[in-house]
Amino acid sequence: MVNSYFTTSLDEALEIRNTKPVIPYAGGTDLMIKADDQASYLFLNKIPELKQIREDEEYIRIGACATYSEVLHHRLTPQILKDAIIELAAPAIRNLGTVGGNVCNGSPKGDSALIFFVTDALLRLGSSRGEHTLPIKEFYLGRKKLALQNDELLLEILIPKKGLEHYYYKKIGARNALAISRVSFAGILNVEEGRIKNCATAFGAVSDVVVRRPDIDQMMIGKTIDEAKDTKKEYLAAYDETIVPIRGRVSAEYRKSVCMNLLQDFLETNGI
Ligand SMILES: Cc1cc2nc3c(=O)[nH]c(=O)nc-3n(C[C@H](O)[C@H](O)[C@H](O)COP(=O)(O)OP(=O)(O)OC[C@H]3O[C@@H](n4cnc5c(N)ncnc54)[C@H](O)[C@@H]3O)c2cc1C
Repeated sequence: MVNSYFTTSLDEALEIRNTKPVIPYAGGTDLMIKADDQASYLFLNKIPELKQIREDEEYIRIGACATYSEVLHHRLTPQILKDAIIELAAPAIRNLGTVGGNVCNGSPKGDSALIFFVTDALLRLGSSRGEHTLPIKEFYLGRKKLALQNDELLLEILIPKKGLEHYYYKKIGARNALAISRVSFAGILNVEEGRIKNCATAFGAVSDVVVRRPDIDQMMIGKTIDEAKDTKKEYLAAYDETIVPIRGRVSAEYRKSVCMNLLQDFLETNGI
C-alpha cells in the first residue's frame, strides 16, 4: 500500500479525502477481495463519530463505520435490521464489515442496504464543503454508480424509528446461512384503524439497484384489508411488469418467480 492514511479525526479524514486521491476503507471486507497494492487508502474505522449509534426524535442514527456486530448488539437497532444481520456472512466478517461499507459498495445484493431501502432510510453525507442528507433511493444511480462525490464520505444512516414492527424479511441464498443473496425481499405493512397506513417493499439481488417502488406500493395505502384483496391482482401485475431480473449465477426466470412468490407470501402473511 502506498501513502495510506489513518486518523481518528473526522475533520482530518474529510480534509484528506478532499486533497488526496484516496479510497475510503471501513472494514475492508469488500475492498480486500480486489486489494490494490498501488492504491492509497483512507482508514475510517477508528473515527469515533462514524461508529456511534444514537437516536433523535424521529430516527435511529447509525454511524457508517458501525460494524454489523456492533449494530446487531445495540439496543436501538430495529429487529428487521437484526434479522438481516443474523443471516449476513459469518461472525468474523460481521466483526469487520460495516453498514456504511455495504451501502457504499453499491451492490444490489447488500443485505443491510435492502433494509435501508425498505425503511426509506436517509443517508448523511459529508465533505469539507459541508453536509447533506438524501433518501437512499437517490444515492444509487445505477450498477455501482453512487451519488457520492470524490471528496465525500458517508457519515450516517438514518432509519425512521416508527412503523417498523410489522415486517417480513426473507433472504434466499445457496444455503441457509453464510451465503450471498440470490434474491432477498423485505416488506413492511402497517394497519391503523382498519386501514393500511404504510406498505413498503424492496427486492434485492435482482437488478442493478435494489427495487423499491413506492408508487406501486401506494396502491395499497389507505385501503382496508378487504379492499387490498381486491387490488391484489393489479398490484402483483404491476410488480410482475417491473421486476426484470438480470442473469447472474442463477437464471433470471428463477429470480423472477422467487420474487413474485415472496411478494405473494408477504401479502398473504398480512391477510391479503
Ligand atoms: C466471506 C464474505 C461474506 C460476505 N457475506 C455477505 C453477505 O452475506 N451479505 C452482504 O450484504 N455482504 C456480504 N459480504 C460483503 C461485505 O462484507 C459487506 O458488503 C460489508 O458491509 C462491507 O463493509 P466494509 O466495511 O468491509 O466495506 P469496505 O470493504 O471497507 O468498503 C466497501 C466500499 O465502500 C466504500 N466505503 C466504505 N465506507 C465508506 C464511507 N463511510 N464513505 C464512503 N465510502 C465508503 C469503500 O471505498 C468501498 O468502495 C461478504 C464479504 C465476504 C468477504
